[in-house]
Amino acid sequence: MVATRDGNFGSLLKASESAFKLELQQLVEEVRSGVDNDSAEETQSSMSIPAQVPVNGLYHIRPLPGKGQAMVAARKIPKGTRIIAESPTITLPGNPRDSAGVLHLNQLITSQLSNLPAATRQQYHTLHNNYTAATPPIPPAIGIARTNALPFGHNSLSAGVFLHASRINHSCTHNAENTWNASLGKLTIHAIRDIEPGSEITISYVEGFKPCNQRQAHLLSAFGFRCVCERCAVTDSKRKESDERLRRLVQLEEEIGDGVGIVATPLACLRKAREMLRLLEEEGLGGATVPRVYYDAFQVAIANGDQARATVFAGRWYASRAVVEGEDSEDAAKAKEMMKKPAEHRLFGTTMKWKQAAGKVPSGLSEEAFEKWLWREKGTA
Ligand SMILES: [Zn+2]
Repeated sequence: MVATRDGNFGSLLKASESAFKLELQQLVEEVRSGVDNDSAEETQSSMSIPAQVPVNGLYHIRPLPGKGQAMVAARKIPKGTRIIAESPTITLPGNPRDSAGVLHLNQLITSQLSNLPAATRQQYHTLHNNYTAATPPIPPAIGIARTNALPFGHNSLSAGVFLHASRINHSCTHNAENTWNASLGKLTIHAIRDIEPGSEITISYVEGFKPCNQRQAHLLSAFGFRCVCERCAVTDSKRKESDERLRRLVQLEEEIGDGVGIVATPLACLRKAREMLRLLEEEGLGGATVPRVYYDAFQVAIANGDQARATVFAGRWYASRAVVEGEDSEDAAKAKEMMKKPAEHRLFGTTMKWKQAAGKVPSGLSEEAFEKWLWREKGTA
């Protein structure tokens, strides 16, 4: 892998500048005087990238030109497959105000490493380090943590370093998604589309709907590389079209997200949700936004008393969440519950202007006619 894959976490590990520099000075002295045992280990282990033959047989870890170590599909991986469920090798507290002093961080990492088997420690030191040329020098254990940490969930301040998942490179057309599964206490990687044998498995290091130039700027500053994926390496006119879709996605997400429209203008809200799904598909973006949009559509239906459409939207929310996180994720379980009992949602009946029983889902319609009914196109009840 090349770099950290979460922008939030990149900044999260940084202490305030002055504290950082002070502690770094102390640490640099330690490193230079050979107190830091890990630097020796890194030299030893640089020749021993572990031969990854995972139990599940789904992937290999091997070098790809210009990309360092990468994760590659060993066979066809169908959409929704859980590729990895991995425990962190080391865990990092995220809040820099509490703990991000370099000295503290180094102690934290080295003490965790010292409790691991020698082979695991060695593997840790084969992970990529973006900070080998940093000035002043940064101890390898920290450089590796900063380069490879993955957050425990989208809003989590905690993170971990993973021997396998941390090798996954970035693509703006990523075919896999990383999520923290709290019930398992593991990071999971799921295929969000079919992955062909020999294809690289990728995740996104960029959050939200950033246009191409912002993605590039972010990847360069936070992770030190330029992305040359198929979404970035396009003609100017294609890039403009893509950027326009992304701009519109940001706008739609904000408008739906304010919550007011669910009751005030529910039909417009449904239209916006549908437009978001269309734009996501055009842009080739699956991932975690899809279940979020279906959840929004579910809320519009149930808040206005329509249990029939709410049931269908909950089903799609569940199915798309299961693809990204697995059926055992917390949100998938919630969606499944709402499929069965939509009226138990807290918003049920905020208005009853679309009142409809759960059993009123039409049957025998063509796919097109069903979609028209679901999204309340003109002429459908
Ligand atoms: Zn790209």
